[in-house]
Amino acid sequence: MAQPQMPPSRSWTFDLDFEGIGWLTIDVPDASVNTLSRETITELSAIVTRLEELVQAGELKGVVLLSGKDSGFIAGADVTEFDEMSDPGVLNAALERAHALVDRIEALKVPVVAGIHGFCLGGGLELALACQYRIAVNDDKTRIGFPEVNLGIFPGFGGSGRSVRQAGPVDAMQIMLTGKLLRASQARRMGLVDKLVRHRDTLRWEGRKAVLQNRKSSVAPFSKRAMAIGPLRGYVANKMREEARKKARPEHYPAPYSLIDLFEEHGNDWRAMKQGEIARFVPLMDSPTSKNLRRVFFLSEGLKKQGVRGAKKPVFRRVHVIGAGVMGGDIAAWCALRGLGVTLQDLDMERIKPALDRAKALFKKRLRSKTEIDNAVARLEADVTGKGLARADVVIEAVVENLEIKRKIFADAELKVKPEAILATNTSSIELERIAEGLANPGRLIGLHFFNPVAQLPLVEVIRSTFNSDEEIARGASFALAIGKSPVVVKSAPGFLVNRVLMPYMLGAVQRVEAGANKEQIDAAAVAFGMPMGPIELMDTVGLDVGKSVAEELGNTVPTDGQFAKLVAEKKLGRKTGQGFYTWTNGKAVKAEAPPHEDLAGLGRELVQPLVDATVVVVGEGVVASDDLADIGVIYGTGFAPFLGGPMQARKDGRA
Ligand code: NAD
Repeated sequence: MAQPQMPPSRSWTFDLDFEGIGWLTIDVPDASVNTLSRETITELSAIVTRLEELVQAGELKGVVLLSGKDSGFIAGADVTEFDEMSDPGVLNAALERAHALVDRIEALKVPVVAGIHGFCLGGGLELALACQYRIAVNDDKTRIGFPEVNLGIFPGFGGSGRSVRQAGPVDAMQIMLTGKLLRASQARRMGLVDKLVRHRDTLRWEGRKAVLQNRKSSVAPFSKRAMAIGPLRGYVANKMREEARKKARPEHYPAPYSLIDLFEEHGNDWRAMKQGEIARFVPLMDSPTSKNLRRVFFLSEGLKKQGVRGAKKPVFRRVHVIGAGVMGGDIAAWCALRGLGVTLQDLDMERIKPALDRAKALFKKRLRSKTEIDNAVARLEADVTGKGLARADVVIEAVVENLEIKRKIFADAELKVKPEAILATNTSSIELERIAEGLANPGRLIGLHFFNPVAQLPLVEVIRSTFNSDEEIARGASFALAIGKSPVVVKSAPGFLVNRVLMPYMLGAVQRVEAGANKEQIDAAAVAFGMPMGPIELMDTVGLDVGKSVAEELGNTVPTDGQFAKLVAEKKLGRKTGQGFYTWTNGKAVKAEAPPHEDLAGLGRELVQPLVDATVVVVGEGVVASDDLADIGVIYGTGFAPFLGGPMQARKDGRA
């Protein structure tokens, strides 16, 4: 079959087959995933012009759009270009062009079908939604959705209107507002995908059939669309605002609210909603929130590049955890959840049993099928005698905070473990060098400092002692990444990074309460500033006893004669005992109405100041290598306002 002349392209290939079907494949060079850059879009535009000519000449029966990458279809727009693109003068015109291109694809007078495997996100999904039919591989790797909200924006290539058209307003808004990624079967149920296939190999066959049979996706049924009609739309929009407010404030995260406004204006007319998208999108992209969230995104991607790369990249299969308490039990459960074989050791079976029960509850919550849950349960083994030591690729010690016990454990472990196994302690406060001193090879011991609750907090501080080499630290980071955590390398100094910066903030707030400040108001102020939880509620959550011992270890002044001391003496230790500064019922702090304050966010800023100051000191001392690492570490370890870009960035911007 003679191939038509096509415009030159680096990312797209086009083949016309003997049946008149054009196979358009995206495979962006030198990249592991396809993203839509300016270049890729410009090339596509030229190709579409050519397709229009071929259709006109009667030489093209239809087009199937596929990806040549194993990683998936298209992961979205190219975020590395966002900073340049955020200039409203540039962006407005670029969006107009992108909209026009996607509209032209939709208007082609032959069927255009998308064949989706792996990631189909953001701009990739927007492109797919302009096709007249969508086929997706129904396996574990397929993920379909709009993660834009995590970058402080929403879909900008016409996806807002088109997703409402296909899935109906409630489902479409839900996925755009939450950034939740769907599996293929969920996307099919929602109407974003029309047909599921089992294997990627079948996409071509089904794509061909869809073209030859002129299959067309149908729009959302009236029962769904009704939610956007007449006065109901305002009601639905208000409900969405209520939900959004539970998660984020408009002054911190404007994108969800702007999207809801767009829906309220045009939700009954997908074309008008699509058109209205541009004017709302441009200021969001140019906002400090989006700029900072993009920074957090890049910092987080940067963390993934740590660790050993290339041929020496370690493979981790088995972990041995010593100490089945709060931390050890949860670290073991997390590793089993992530697919590793785990042995969990403690002094006797009674101490291991509660950890196994907690692990099962975690598996039930996080895994879908009974088989997956059973397999995870089988991967986690109680091991009172420590037979797992000899087989482990990683040994993590999480016993009581006692130097002598820890030393003994590692002296024994060093004799039994494989030569290449990682030896790690989860200590919060003991200098690594003091634990390592007794070892034949003290350089083997690193710190892997997890945070409570392990399943929720993404950070692992990889603690470096003066004995460690780069290679040992890189291997530790590799392990953290292998179990889906974000490693930040920190020097072995009291409190490391996170506890060191949190303590002055929490104690400062406790002192204010001791001096008569209202605790509800203090907590509300920190939240108004942008913290996920106020410092008093946080102290209750961490446990007053834990807070006290960490504070003392760091040499911070702990109040001895006020409410804090009294609560500790009475064993009212916070959430875990049901009573601390707050009374806790069903895992929630019971709060009274906070008295009004004229500048709550300003008070919050004052409260957070000690945290920011401590971060500056920690960076100055070289405990973390850069402002960037301090920012991402504090965001991931404490939840510090991501929209401010971290404490160092907020300080530079004069916002903290
Ligand atoms: P925990 O008291 O809940 O658990 C410690 C466990 O170690 C107990 O089950 C105990 O029976 C066991 N143990 C004691 N001696 C042992 C031995 N010789 N062999 C095997 N097991 C032994 O303590 P935790 O809160 O889980 O803390 C454990 C470690 O993690 C400490 O070093 C702590 O500093 C650190 N840490 C704690 C937190 C936190 O928030 N609790 C956070 C990060 C790090």
